[in-house]
Amino acid sequence: MDKFKQIYKMIKKYNKIVIARHVGPDPDALGSTLGLKEVILNTFPKKEVYVVGAPASRHRYIGLLDKFTDDMYKDSMLIVLDTPDIKRIDGVDCSKFEYVIKIDHHPFIERFADIELIDSSASSASQLVIELIKNTKLKPNKACAEKLYIGLVGDTERFLHSYTTCKTFELVSYIIKETNIDFTSLYENMYLRSINDLRLQSYIINNLTITDNGFGYIKLDQDILDKYNTDAATACNIVNNLTFIDGMYSWAIFCYDKANDNIRCSIRSRGPIINEVASKYNGGGHKFASGARLSDFDISDKLINELDLACLKYKETITNL
Ligand code: AMP
Repeated sequence: MDKFKQIYKMIKKYNKIVIARHVGPDPDALGSTLGLKEVILNTFPKKEVYVVGAPASRHRYIGLLDKFTDDMYKDSMLIVLDTPDIKRIDGVDCSKFEYVIKIDHHPFIERFADIELIDSSASSASQLVIELIKNTKLKPNKACAEKLYIGLVGDTERFLHSYTTCKTFELVSYIIKETNIDFTSLYENMYLRSINDLRLQSYIINNLTITDNGFGYIKLDQDILDKYNTDAATACNIVNNLTFIDGMYSWAIFCYDKANDNIRCSIRSRGPIINEVASKYNGGGHKFASGARLSDFDISDKLINELDLACLKYKETITNL
């Protein structure tokens, strides 16, 4: 039996299902989990299905989360989406569930589930949920398809990144045909921004340091965040808008995160492999989209040096072609 069928069998078996994802959720973490909940309930209306983890106010439009309570551990199955390791699971202890399933598209870090469906060539966890639906008797509806579409578009940055494949388009086409969602109407919620955020983006562009090796970075302290009336998550997200700058191969935003009293860092690349570097700094993620957590800005200088070196190495490979 293939993994999709095995997962369907376990979904059918358990009446209580908890769905979790990584800390600091992005649209894919939220869209994939909330979309999976919708499709399970649409197929099996009598089941209890909960999506847990700390809410992220700016992504509230994707859907509401359930508050986790300890009785949810009893006789229930956990499905963890978009999360490669135990320490990044938000809000639940995976060892307390009767059965655990992992569905993920990050590079493998550790095994923690009874069934692990991992495909690091998939664009997003949402894409994997669409594939699960297509390969089983799960019945999608509009609400599920909208959430999965948002997750997939979020992680591919509107089909821009290299892990957007032919299969991505086939699965998107499948879910749109099945449910007839009005997908263009979803973009306003996803991309509407305050003028302050755009002004902060201008500040970042005006003050970005770009090294000779093609690494771009900026450090944002609390004063800057206060000036633009924003927070670390929103500021770091601007990293996605710096993709095609000539001569810049990798770039990062380092931002003080008041809530956690540490430095949140978002790193992107269009060549150098960055997740191996990020993983040395309490971070991780994908080859070309990674993040890290640092105790202070001094440590960020070490990370900057290593990322700069990764750019140098990459530059040498492309100039030798
Ligand atoms: P972000 O820059 O927050 O959008 O994250 C980009 C990618 O890196 C996502 O796949 C995250 O799950 C991952 N990531 C971000 N921060 C961390 C971290 N501190 N540890 C491990 N992975 C991370």
